[in-house]
Amino acid sequence: MTRDTRPHVLIVGGGYVGLYTALRLERRLGAHEARVTMVNPENFMLYQSLLPEVASGTLAPSHAVVPLRRTLKRTRLLAGRVTGLDHRRRTATVQPYEGEPGEVVYDHVVIGLGSVTKVLPVPGLVQRAVGFTTVTEAIFLRNQVLSRMEAAEALTDEAARRRALTFVFVGGGYSGVEALAELEDLARDACRYFPSIAPRELRWVLVEVTDRILPIVDRDLAEYATRLLRERGVDVYLETSLESAEDGVIVLSNGERFEADTLCWAAGVSPDPLAAGMGLPADDMGRLVVDECLRVRHTPGAWAAGDCAAVPDLIEGGTCPPSAQYAVREARRLGDNLAAVIRGRELTPFRHRSPGELITLGRHRGVARLLRLRLRGFLPWYLRRLYHIARIPSPLRKLEVWLDWTSALAKPRDVVHLGSEEHPREPFHEAAERTGAG
Ligand SMILES: Cc1cc2nc3c(=O)[nH]c(=O)nc-3n(C[C@H](O)[C@H](O)[C@H](O)COP(=O)(O)OP(=O)(O)OC[C@H]3O[C@@H](n4cnc5c(N)ncnc54)[C@H](O)[C@@H]3O)c2cc1C
Repeated sequence: MTRDTRPHVLIVGGGYVGLYTALRLERRLGAHEARVTMVNPENFMLYQSLLPEVASGTLAPSHAVVPLRRTLKRTRLLAGRVTGLDHRRRTATVQPYEGEPGEVVYDHVVIGLGSVTKVLPVPGLVQRAVGFTTVTEAIFLRNQVLSRMEAAEALTDEAARRRALTFVFVGGGYSGVEALAELEDLARDACRYFPSIAPRELRWVLVEVTDRILPIVDRDLAEYATRLLRERGVDVYLETSLESAEDGVIVLSNGERFEADTLCWAAGVSPDPLAAGMGLPADDMGRLVVDECLRVRHTPGAWAAGDCAAVPDLIEGGTCPPSAQYAVREARRLGDNLAAVIRGRELTPFRHRSPGELITLGRHRGVARLLRLRLRGFLPWYLRRLYHIARIPSPLRKLEVWLDWTSALAKPRDVVHLGSEEHPREPFHEAAERTGAG
């Protein structure tokens, strides 16, 4: 058997960085020039920007993900996790889905591990809160809101009803604001199917430690978003932090204390801790330090981008923000540069001037900064949808997302909650017990 002498590229992570780097390599290099392997825990790439719509039910969960096996033509996917790297030996340790860990030898490694929710030591937080970075969390939150409304419909005790109908979101960045706005819309619409619940009985609380929400847009747009949320009855608490959530009792730094069954923690992310644990140069925030061509500093053969990397921002100075917008562009440049190295060509530094941001504030409302324009209301909401449809890297998914959104405009809200999906074996166990087999 002849030995495969093609350079081997190992991509760690199948998110924005992993997927777009792989697509770029497939485009730039012929099959004879390199082989590419991707390791990712799931066989899909999550398009995180669409999670708010998954939570509100205007998008099917499977339409917010891109199937890696179908989208990638020449990249081998290994479902599992990289658990360590020995770059001197150019070897990664991989824990597959099942079975014993194994080693993968590579010539180049691309690290796109992304980030994890930044959890702070707040009493009760770990026990009571849910994050908002995965599709499972988005589905859970939708089920949670609807199941709390079902519970309240049957409750007569005033305090218990208030607790069920109080929803607290911590973090005024785009994920916290978009999640709250979409879910609040869902719940308000759903009230028509719950005869005993008036919309004003629902209490939505947004807690933000700084003096403003949405730091990625200009202050006037953030103030507009704050006003809009307050007009909808949302309690937006600025310069306030969560002090405790023990037993579902929410204690805020402004002295407020109340009970809530639902607590969503969207107070920021930090680079995946594995990045700093790989023995490669990392900064004090735990991000891999890369040069302007996306090479890990002083480490030939190692590349990184996205949320887990400190990528120099040659336009604005400092480092690039952790966002999908940057991750996609960085990945494309990384793919081009890696292909150039394999072909012995010149590298090009990464440069991206952000055209702006588009944020949803629930149905038909949004804010946007687009170049010099500041938009609010329906137009940015609509443009955001067009933008994401244009961006999703799969023609079939584009169509499915468009169909979901178009039909959601015409249909009444679906208020079914499939909470029992979280315990799929329960009915079987119950049946076994009742039939005497358990
Ligand atoms: C709710 C929400 C909404 C957002 N909306 C926007 C938006 O509108 N616009 C915008 O620009 N940005 C948005 N972002 C931010 C954006 O999603 C991130 O910046 C982007 O995902 C970063 O890309 P990445 O490739 O670095 O990481 P990711 O896309 O997170 O990919 C990391 C991948 O690595 C995998 N992985 C983790 N550990 C291992 C391991 N040990 N081995 C192998 N694989 C591993 C993960 O499973 C994941 O697939 C949003 C984020 C959230 C949470």
